[in-house]
Amino acid sequence: MSGPSAEFDECLATVTAHIQARHHGLSDIPTLPTPDAVQNTISQLPAALPTTGLGTKATTSYLMDTLLPGCLQAQNGPRYFGFVVGGTTEASQLAEILGGSYDENAHSTLPGVTASSAIEQRTLEMILDLLAIPRDVYGGRTLTTGATASNVLGLACARDHLYANSPHLPKGYSYAQEGPPSDVNIPGPPIVLLTLHPHFSLVKSAGLVGLGSGPRVVQTMPSAPGDELAFDLDALRDRLEAEKKIGRGVIVCYGMGEVNTGGFGRGLESVAKLSREYGAWLHVDAAFGGFAAVVPEFRHLTKGIDLADSLTLDGHKWLNVPYDCGIFFTRTSQSLLKVFAPPAASAPAYLSAGINSSSRTDRPSTEIIHELVPIPLYVNIENSRRFRALPLFASLLSLGQDGYADIVRRNVLFARKIATYISISSDYELLNSSASVSGASSEGKDAIVPLNIVLFRGSATSKFPPTDPTASARLAQTINDTRIMYVSGTKWRGQGSIRLAVSNWRTGGGGEEEFDVVRKVFEQVMQ
Ligand SMILES: *Cc1c(COP(=O)(O)O)cnc(C)c1O
Repeated sequence: MSGPSAEFDECLATVTAHIQARHHGLSDIPTLPTPDAVQNTISQLPAALPTTGLGTKATTSYLMDTLLPGCLQAQNGPRYFGFVVGGTTEASQLAEILGGSYDENAHSTLPGVTASSAIEQRTLEMILDLLAIPRDVYGGRTLTTGATASNVLGLACARDHLYANSPHLPKGYSYAQEGPPSDVNIPGPPIVLLTLHPHFSLVKSAGLVGLGSGPRVVQTMPSAPGDELAFDLDALRDRLEAEKKIGRGVIVCYGMGEVNTGGFGRGLESVAKLSREYGAWLHVDAAFGGFAAVVPEFRHLTKGIDLADSLTLDGHKWLNVPYDCGIFFTRTSQSLLKVFAPPAASAPAYLSAGINSSSRTDRPSTEIIHELVPIPLYVNIENSRRFRALPLFASLLSLGQDGYADIVRRNVLFARKIATYISISSDYELLNSSASVSGASSEGKDAIVPLNIVLFRGSATSKFPPTDPTASARLAQTINDTRIMYVSGTKWRGQGSIRLAVSNWRTGGGGEEEFDVVRKVFEQVMQ
């Protein structure tokens, strides 16, 4: 086959009709496939690469009739409350399909040839607008595969910055180019990460960029008295002072939006001030919690989000764009170029645009000067990557500030409604009321949760009592087996518990009818 076939037209119509049906029926589609459906798909996988291909039509039918029925059916639906997965807004889903059709490799700035890198810049600027962060605060920006990749970028930038400023090394030492220094006076480990409740991806990233991921490197600091999500500032100051004395590099990692509770610690501004004072790099992981800033009444939770040296956000979570999409900001593009751009002399010749001109974008502007946009492959991991900005751009444009504020607000209110039910029910125990998780004021209403996550377990008098170590896992499984909604298990304060995260653009605002579907599941599993 070397050109378009009539099969394609027919398949496109079938696929479009299928997508359309899913789009309208998503609220009623069971969240999960049955175990039999999963097994059926696996048993019908081809044993090997066929010598003669099936062709477009048979393959498409096989995907729709045999493969996809064994995969998650409604992870982008309104009652998939596991992890924080979001969904796909209408405009982003359509843009994703269109983007695939164009298949542009957004790897280089090609002014006068393609607008894709300029579109990406504007997309990233609009994200800053959405979070009410002045654009000139974060001059270094790029799109990644997710918060994990953004954490990798943040730690890589931090690493190079700290080596370049190490008192034990020549000023400007480039770790990216020189590798680990052989100087024996450097303390071991040369860099530590000071954290509180770090997301696993951060630990993984620390290993990947060569800092080490063990407890000698990734260290948990004491939390503030009465606020387990906030750094104890005295302890942090003492520690920063001690590390400065021996000339060890420090990355302070601040989680904005704790993953089990959705809680926020107090004091990012103070942490930022201390970090600056002692020359530490402040990395903020705000994968989903940062989007509290979209809603004026929740914005106080993210106070200080503009003070990070590097900032991680996710597009494929609360922004509801298709997987995969992460967002990374740092103060200047130089930090990224120092890690990812080749020295000018060794730049690949087939990339004709010079890297010198591309290194100066750290200025506020309403107009994008395309020649000044950094070459995407010099500020990120991949050389080739898909046109990731397109679905995100489409979503931002279609919903605007108000549309996104509406999603965040509806999701949080829905989570609070569930939290209220849980806290009143004698069968359940709410574990993350604002009164029990630090950071937000409870205003006397215990049932209010910090953001969009409800953390709970069965009560002592229920069928799933906390005294039984398997209770929470069993309860989650029982809920998920209904296939009406999906939750995920976790551990909080060492105890098994269940997380319910509301992050889908369709969820909330549906009134009592929408809530009743969830309430009935909660009742049914306790009978
Ligand atoms: C989800 C999450 C991550 C990992 O993000 P991916 O997009 O899955 O790579 C990192 N940090 C936090 C706080 C998260 O919530």
